[in-house]
Amino acid sequence: MKYVDEFRSGERAKRLAAAIRQEADPGRQYRLMEFCGGHTHAIFRFGLQTLMPDNVEFVHGPGCPVCVLPTGRIDAAIGLARGHDVILCTYGDLMRVPGSGRMSLLKAKAAGGDIRMVYSTRDALAIARANPERQVVFFAIGFETTTPPTAVAIRQAEAEGLENFSVFCNHVLTPPALHTILRQNARDGGIAGVLGPSHVSTIIGSRAYEPCAATFSMPVVIAGFEPLDVMQSALMLIRQINAGRHAVENEYTRAVTPEGNGKAQALMADVFELRPTFEWRGLGMLAHSALAVADAYAPFDAERRFAVPQIAGAETKGCLCPSVLRGVDKPTDCKLFGTVCTPENPMGACMVSSEGACAAYWSYGRFRRPAAA
Ligand code: SF4
Repeated sequence: MKYVDEFRSGERAKRLAAAIRQEADPGRQYRLMEFCGGHTHAIFRFGLQTLMPDNVEFVHGPGCPVCVLPTGRIDAAIGLARGHDVILCTYGDLMRVPGSGRMSLLKAKAAGGDIRMVYSTRDALAIARANPERQVVFFAIGFETTTPPTAVAIRQAEAEGLENFSVFCNHVLTPPALHTILRQNARDGGIAGVLGPSHVSTIIGSRAYEPCAATFSMPVVIAGFEPLDVMQSALMLIRQINAGRHAVENEYTRAVTPEGNGKAQALMADVFELRPTFEWRGLGMLAHSALAVADAYAPFDAERRFAVPQIAGAETKGCLCPSVLRGVDKPTDCKLFGTVCTPENPMGACMVSSEGACAAYWSYGRFRRPAAA
């Protein structure tokens, strides 16, 4: 398959692994944070950590959109579905994420809430058209990748005069989160380079990372999702670290440009505005790190239409998701991993999401605890 097979060649992987072993200085530790959960899954699916020398370690970052959503926003969405008799539409992963008291959208649905899984914003618009007597709310989450489709949906609803459609907006921005992680790292040390996200970078462009790289003297390489992309990007980071450089380099040139997607950026700037502050699981309250529906589209803002309360949610006791998302703990540091917490019975968002670090450790089997004899 074009653009897939050539980036999964075993022979090329061996050559890249040999180059990494040769160029990694045995006197250094190379802790490379992959920001994006998609990279975490590629690393585990293809066993890339096992191809690295002992002193090159992948550290998992906060780039899983479901995982960084704080419990209070899940609670608010459940409240919307239960308290306002709306049809709440959202992506599948979110349905199973535990809110406070381990309530989830799926459990709220079982208890009678009209909560529907959709594959796209188009599905949510179709539900609104088919149910003119009901209010339909799209529970929107995600980084810059999923934000433009939400903007399109709001503009489409406006164009059609769909008065029963609104968006509970939880879109977040990558650079402020990376800035926070690197500011913390400047105090604690540890991370020597960053693998930048793939899909997000197609929208915001590689230049968006330059302030972070300059402020924290941090090498950044935008990496594609295939195994050879990740290995090549790791090698590029190792070369930068060895040379004492801290530039933003782009390995994923087949999809990412320095400027990004101007049309998508213009759409986002039209439909959304920056929130003064927003809570992230694991990172706390971050200034100017998330988007709200702009005043010009206020009728399509579920938070204004239904006066959604700000809720301080409670994390599941013992769940280390917050520190896993900062790269401080590994999923296997969590006492609940693979015992109480499994994909069938998730205790935290990182085990639910298809981009979550705990799900990656579990799915690819390499770090399961051995079954009791
Ligand atoms: S294993 Fe489960 S409980 Fe532990 S950090 Fe991951 S999601 Fe949370």
